[in-house]
Amino acid sequence: TESLASRDPELFASITGELGRQRDEIELIASENIVSRAVMEAQGSVMTNKYAEGYPGKRYYGGCGFVDVAETLAIERAKQLFGCAFANVQPNSGSQANQGVFNALLKPGDTILGMELASGGHLTHGASVNQSGKWFHAVQYGVRKADNLIDYDQVAALAREHKPKLIIAGGSAIPRQIDFAKFRAIADEVGALLMVDMAHFAGLVAGGAHPSPFPQADVATTTTHKTLRGPRGGMILTNNEDIAKKVNSAIFPGIQGGPLMHVIAAKAVAFGEALRPEFRAYAAQVVKNAQALADELMKGGLDIVTGGTDTHVMLVDLRPKGVKGNATEKALGRAHITCNKNGIPFDPEKPMVTSGVRLGTPAGTTRGFAEAEFREIARLIVEVVDGLAANGEDGNAAVEAAVKAKVAALCARFPLYPTL
Ligand code: PLP
Repeated sequence: TESLASRDPELFASITGELGRQRDEIELIASENIVSRAVMEAQGSVMTNKYAEGYPGKRYYGGCGFVDVAETLAIERAKQLFGCAFANVQPNSGSQANQGVFNALLKPGDTILGMELASGGHLTHGASVNQSGKWFHAVQYGVRKADNLIDYDQVAALAREHKPKLIIAGGSAIPRQIDFAKFRAIADEVGALLMVDMAHFAGLVAGGAHPSPFPQADVATTTTHKTLRGPRGGMILTNNEDIAKKVNSAIFPGIQGGPLMHVIAAKAVAFGEALRPEFRAYAAQVVKNAQALADELMKGGLDIVTGGTDTHVMLVDLRPKGVKGNATEKALGRAHITCNKNGIPFDPEKPMVTSGVRLGTPAGTTRGFAEAEFREIARLIVEVVDGLAANGEDGNAAVEAAVKAKVAALCARFPLYPTL
């Protein structure tokens, strides 16, 4: 019966501090979003108490009637949302969704072909520091130097040379739509399976603002917390019955134990929200906002990798201003604009320095920002970057303070979680 505030004031203070930070800062981290109160209620519910190893109707524990309802709702809504025949909603994260697919379809030492980290791929697609790069023979493709777009000729050449069992399309910093048909043709030519990791753009697919990876993909994985605007977690989708069976055994008992039923309940809520017409408007607005942000940043003298975006994310090339990604992330942070430093393709700087920052619009769009606000945000970013360019690593404190005040005014116009 005791409230968190009185039971654990120290921890409670960290939560209220984080709520304040989210309210007061402009969130531009492309992989983050702001969930609804309903999603949080489900996640903070009694479902966290329940063990439910297995799947709905086939559990290894008693008392699973109600959690079965929740998981079935999540599965059915996910299938409807992505127009596919099977969904496993149990992966605890995007990484574990990918691990689940590998466990289902591969053996240690098999060859996989994925995008390299430096070009926008994800760690779990075969990076040498990740299990996927250690336990498999991972071959990596990249982007073309001329236009920073995926080098499909290289993908095809590497596929012919290495005959991968699995080809992976998708990544964490890919601003343009991926040509799934081209990947399908390459996979067919070499007899590989095609996995699309749509973690970043799943919400755009759900909202009709981005092509679906189906029918081209044999299997698709995603996180549920980025553009899809659900709780932190992962999911695996397929139309192939054989892969579906293997995926279920690969997640449980393959790599996970008891599913996080409170998270699955929250996934069901988020998928229900994504099925509503408002979510289509949201997804379209996310893309329009990203295009407005990119356009205004270019007007301010910054480069955008590939010259723009067709999604929620963009990579800002800071080199025209002569500043680095790490210093820019810090300077923007001082002005209450949150983003992450990010290597740009063929980046001459080290990963802890970088020549770029990655920006995304999913969280700001949820907050209510439209194109006008994102154009204003772009101008504020340019002010901070220009301050940095003129004053060195420590930036221009006066400029940063002035921008911080404008950020506060903007945030006040779009209150976050007003009833919390
Ligand atoms: N796949 C892609 C493309 C991602 O961008 C991410 C997260 O950044 C993941 C997988 C991993 O998700 P998680 O952080 O939930 O493990």
